[in-house]
Amino acid sequence: MPSTSKIVLASARLRTLLFAMPSGRTHDRITLWSLLPIASTTYLLSQRASVTLFLAGGYLFSGLMFGPDLDTHSSQYRRWGWLRWIWLPYRRAMRHRSLWSHGVVIGTIGRILYLVGLVGLLVLLGLLVWEISLWLSDAPNIVWQTAQQGINFGLVELGRSLQTYPLEWMGALVGLELGSLSHSISDWLVSAVKRRQRSKRVK
Ligand SMILES: [Zn+2]
Repeated sequence: MPSTSKIVLASARLRTLLFAMPSGRTHDRITLWSLLPIASTTYLLSQRASVTLFLAGGYLFSGLMFGPDLDTHSSQYRRWGWLRWIWLPYRRAMRHRSLWSHGVVIGTIGRILYLVGLVGLLVLLGLLVWEISLWLSDAPNIVWQTAQQGINFGLVELGRSLQTYPLEWMGALVGLELGSLSHSISDWLVSAVKRRQRSKRVK
């Protein structure tokens, strides 16, 4: 028969397993296990393989590396590899598990805007460096003209793509939000259970 200390130890381990904040690995498992049901439901509803692919891709990307835990040193953050530094300002600005990173819709929109804004800023910085180098070498200045042409071309192509593939774009965005949502819901569920456990113990 197991001794009392063994039972106490086992129950403590079980409690940690059940009620600890979900770890990165638990979040990964939830994302991977739920991928198939989400993809099947999308295919049943849309009847389109491309929409299913974009939604599932968005879901996977959001669950594994574009999710709410980019606000802390997490596996989502580490998966950006040598590019992870781009999330440092985001991490600094955000309190871990705040509404701005873990909130419904607001978290995903915030991360998209942050990434687009940062890429825009880096492109602008690159253009400035190019401008200065042309100015120093007395070469004809074509920086802003080229930039304007590039932006115009990008906007026209984006508009065309949005018009041609609206459902695929929508699928990708919904996938990003669902991936973030599955993370936040598991965080909230676990902290709600923990709160209940704590209040029971106080009583
Ligand atoms: Zn979290």
